[in-house]
Amino acid sequence: SGRASQEHAILAPFLSRLHSTQASAQKEDSGFKGHDMLAPFTAGWQTTDVNPLIIERSEGSYVYDIDGRKYLDSLAGLWCTSLGGNESRLVAAAMKQLNTLPFYHSFWNRTTRPSLDLAKDLLEMFTARKMGKVFFVNSGSEANDTQVKLVWYYNNALGRPDKKKFIARSKSYHGSTLISASLTGLPALHQKFDIPAPFVLHTDCPHYWRFHLPGETEEEFSTRLAKNLEDLIIKEGPETIAAFIAEPVMGAGGVIPPPATYFEKIQAVVKKYDILFIADEVICAFGRLGTMFGCDKYNIKPDLVSLAKALSSGYMPIGAVIVSPEISDVIHSQSNKLGSFSHGFTYSGHPVACAVAIETLKIYKERNIVEKVNSISSRFQDGLKAFSDSPIVGEIRGTGLILGTEFVDNKSPNDPFPPEWGVGAYFGAECQKNGMLVRVSGDTIMMSPPFIISPQEVDELISIYGKALKATEERVK
Ligand code: PLP
Repeated sequence: SGRASQEHAILAPFLSRLHSTQASAQKEDSGFKGHDMLAPFTAGWQTTDVNPLIIERSEGSYVYDIDGRKYLDSLAGLWCTSLGGNESRLVAAAMKQLNTLPFYHSFWNRTTRPSLDLAKDLLEMFTARKMGKVFFVNSGSEANDTQVKLVWYYNNALGRPDKKKFIARSKSYHGSTLISASLTGLPALHQKFDIPAPFVLHTDCPHYWRFHLPGETEEEFSTRLAKNLEDLIIKEGPETIAAFIAEPVMGAGGVIPPPATYFEKIQAVVKKYDILFIADEVICAFGRLGTMFGCDKYNIKPDLVSLAKALSSGYMPIGAVIVSPEISDVIHSQSNKLGSFSHGFTYSGHPVACAVAIETLKIYKERNIVEKVNSISSRFQDGLKAFSDSPIVGEIRGTGLILGTEFVDNKSPNDPFPPEWGVGAYFGAECQKNGMLVRVSGDTIMMSPPFIISPQEVDELISIYGKALKATEERVK
């Protein structure tokens, strides 16, 4: 039950050895059944797939487990339920479409009205630069896999078959399919999967607090990272580098906003060597950062953009790639030469998912969602950053409605707590005990509440965070 899993999670920290011994004993004795689902990102020693927390229903900023316990959903599902847990207009849009045309595809010049309308809406909404076309997928991972195929197809069409390498960043998250996991810069997604693929290179993580040199300003740090990127490009040969991919604010890698002048300097390098810029806006788009897109906030002029998550407020699986006119024109002429553009998924532009996304975007506009986020974000950011003085907190960082907390000893990025202490897991369990779900990754905590969160709910979030922090400080002392 939900309760059992909570007790389990609270016991786990500081008892990892015991826990893992039990788990392996169970494995040997019974073939380790747990439940019947092979769950995504299944458990190490901090969590377990034996007694999952089972969520049953949602309402506004809250979710409820099968025992009726209520939790403030500080991560909006998985950074996606931007309009909260029970937006009836999205349900109505899905029902209407299900009753009209539950499915038709978009292959071979056949398509549906919702997919055409959604493509038009997205091109109108994305104003950081003029874009050309939209390609629909079902997830962020598929969006980023599609990016690689589009870029390769494009460079083959231009007669530069050697320009194929991708540069991503250390600690980035771009998905978990074979290629998107290769782009991802997190070792856990590579280990034992025989990736990253050889065409993927990783450059510096732009995390100022962790990686700046003594006395180095944010601007100087950005200059150094841009120089490192340029050195990498020159070393590999600019004629071999096809694209650079980046999240405007890094999400699952720990919520890392870019240091001052970073994107300005990185874009100059990328442009100099005729390398395409891909903005992975899967988390940042549609208001999360207090601008409609992350590109707007950091003045990014991308060639390609990946979208998913808040595109449908998470109510239906859908993602999209926005393609510049230069690239879509070349893809057109190439596919005319070949006879077709042979890439796509059965559910590319699924009419129900598109209908829900259209309604989602409509609500963003009607409710002025960017202003809404901006009106609440300082309460959220300032309220939580007030805990920065805690002796176990290294850094609390974020912007808009996204925030990360990193626990370290001695306030130093170089003094992590011993992993077996499970400091982050303990904090997460304390939040859960007090009625809030957060994302725990080692000793980093991540939050990205729904855009509809109220001031009272932000206060509640801060209060639970404070209680959990106090309990964790006591435990670590
Ligand atoms: N890109 C970013 C920036 C993400 O945060 C994620 C998921 O968290 C993805 C891509 C992958 O999306 P999905 O899980 O829908 O495949």
